[in-house]
Amino acid sequence: MRIALISDVHGNLPALDAVLEALAPFDAVWQMGDVVGYGPHPVEVIQRLQGLEALGVRGNHDAAAVGAIGTEWFNDAARIAVEWSARQLTDGASRWLGNLPSSRVEGEFTIVHGSPRDPLWEYLYSTSVARANFDAFETPYCLVGHTHVPLAFRALEDRVETILPEDGTVLALDQRRLILNPGGAGQPRDGDPRASGALLDTSAGTITWRRVPYPIAATQEAMRRAGLPRRLVDRLDLGL
Ligand code: ZN
Repeated sequence: MRIALISDVHGNLPALDAVLEALAPFDAVWQMGDVVGYGPHPVEVIQRLQGLEALGVRGNHDAAAVGAIGTEWFNDAARIAVEWSARQLTDGASRWLGNLPSSRVEGEFTIVHGSPRDPLWEYLYSTSVARANFDAFETPYCLVGHTHVPLAFRALEDRVETILPEDGTVLALDQRRLILNPGGAGQPRDGDPRASGALLDTSAGTITWRRVPYPIAATQEAMRRAGLPRRLVDRLDLGL
């Protein structure tokens, strides 16, 4: 089975569509949360994922957009965007978002947004945080998002290895335990503005990262029309 792995779409429909096209053909879509927030197309992105019967989890922005958590921990721009997103949601979109669990297990994979021990908020950036999290899930592999950075952590006997995947990087799933991040689809933060995603091939036993250009200007124009904060518009060009 070929599964498209998508995280942190953040209401950016052109980015989502570019990633999906690059990963096609696939049999399923799994998403690691933050479907909405920041970007101008929250409802369209939800509808696209509904149409693909995507499985996934909620991120902190999703939880805030449906009122499941407050926005006091968000910075000003993020709070303005999440409140704007909440106002756009249709009943159906809001129900779909509100029904996303904070973690789920699919076969050999645990799926969360932040980290297995703190699914909504913890950022998995460092080997020390990764090491502490390998005890917090039971499957061989864990899929995360939240940092908007493509990353893999592999548990070796005596240490945790960090892998920084680039476009085309392939990693074998060989039962050594891994924490995997497909990168940010709708708001990359590693200095590369191209949308990020990954393809899981369960029969080949591989995961392949992809970076794809998308029409950033189209998303920025829609953000300006929506009156979203300038800082959020500008950062898409920088991938930061
Ligand atoms: Zn996010």
